[in-house]
Amino acid sequence: MSRLLFVASEAFPLIKTGGLADIAGTLPEVLRQQGMDVRLLLPAYRHILDTIDSPATVAELDIAGTPLRLLATQLPGTQVETWLLDHPWFSQRPGNPYHDAGGQSWPDNADRFMLLSRLAAAISTGDAGLAWRPDVLHCNDWHTGPAVALTHLSEQRPLTVFTIHSLAHMGLFDRATFERLHLPGHFWHDSALEFYNQFSFIKGGLVYADYVTTVSPNYAHEICEAPGGMGLEGLLQSRRERLVGILNGIDHRVWNPASDPCLEHHYDAARLADKALNKAALQRSLGLAVADDRPLLGIVGRLVEQKGLELVLPMLGEMLAQPAQLVVLGTGERRYEEYLQHVAGAHPDAMSVILAYDETMAHRIEAAADIFLMPSLFEPCGLNQLYSLRYGTLPVVRAVGGLADTVVDATPQALAEGTATGFVFGPPHSGAFMEALQRAIALWRDRDSWRRVQATAMAQDFSWQRSAARYMELYSSAH
Ligand code: ADP
Repeated sequence: MSRLLFVASEAFPLIKTGGLADIAGTLPEVLRQQGMDVRLLLPAYRHILDTIDSPATVAELDIAGTPLRLLATQLPGTQVETWLLDHPWFSQRPGNPYHDAGGQSWPDNADRFMLLSRLAAAISTGDAGLAWRPDVLHCNDWHTGPAVALTHLSEQRPLTVFTIHSLAHMGLFDRATFERLHLPGHFWHDSALEFYNQFSFIKGGLVYADYVTTVSPNYAHEICEAPGGMGLEGLLQSRRERLVGILNGIDHRVWNPASDPCLEHHYDAARLADKALNKAALQRSLGLAVADDRPLLGIVGRLVEQKGLELVLPMLGEMLAQPAQLVVLGTGERRYEEYLQHVAGAHPDAMSVILAYDETMAHRIEAAADIFLMPSLFEPCGLNQLYSLRYGTLPVVRAVGGLADTVVDATPQALAEGTATGFVFGPPHSGAFMEALQRAIALWRDRDSWRRVQATAMAQDFSWQRSAARYMELYSSAH
């Protein structure tokens, strides 16, 4: 049986700030079910230690002069043995894993995630002295990039895979940080970890991994060119033969409208009338007019520029005048939060804004809304549009990254062929977004056509089984 060490900075349900957690919380279990001997490695954040039963101690280790404990627990809802790096840098830091309450990165993030990387490399090369050693080290995003580079300092190197969930976060630090961390001098080179005179964590993965993967085929293509590559396009182009796009799946145990414990009213493609009960329940609970003659539009996600808020905000008045209702759930940049609240305050029966991170509410909005809005400027894969498809909440998306790979535009031809699943537009402009939304609303008024598209959307297979099989193929290839 192949042994896999899967390393991430977050995994649902132990700790989650975004899509990475959904993947790290699901893929290891599916790989385990497909026959791998898996360990998931995460930092033991305060929040995790507060929510799990007393974990076992696997080992007390000294990693590059830093004493730490390796704890073991099980990822809830799975049989994945999860190892936790216990050190005060994580365990004595409440709140968000990456930044303080004001959104400022923790000043010692380089030290914290270098420790995670060093531990992952030491376990993988046998330097940690554990009885268990992986055949494959699978790292995710910048926090774990150096782990891949560090395995190259050893003769005993496992196969390494590095997954880009987003290139937007590169883990950039200054040269003084590089020197303070006592990394080998040859890593300070533009063919290694240096990036325009800065120290880049993510390059550890991009340069040194046997395979670099990213979370959709289209995003794999986009990042090999400017502007998608964000300055790394040359490097990624040079690794094109080892760069693979594997679409994320969704966890059908967590996201299934027929059994979702967050919903008052369950439904499936054959019982779509019951979806409307969720709409009425949400309208009531949020104080919106309980009306079924207006489409309910939903937005769930981080309220940041990437998610296309610049396209949506100028159109709020026009959107509500369709007439339509809008519910927004998210947290993010203050200026977006304040503007959304301001508009909602002026239209209390038509618009509701919930500035919170609320898993249950995210499920309720997916079930209640008619149309989901995701006009992202870039989107490596995107999960919310996949949840929306599964919940029969037809998405309006921009043709970028994984959104373009997963939503089929309701053109007359796609409608006639029965392949349409949503509404896709190209230019990053409010006008193009609004035009797609108006097409969606027009189709929503044609109830029979809408139901047909809903049924097609709900029948799409974005299960992890398919994606996991692709990862297994990579794992079984040679270095
Ligand atoms: P990203 O990883 O860029 O944030 P994704 O669409 O890939 O975007 O994944 C976002 C995940 O985080 C989804 O599971 C989404 O439901 C969840 N999410 C984002 N914001 C919130 C929120 N405010 N409340 C609940 N869930 C949220």
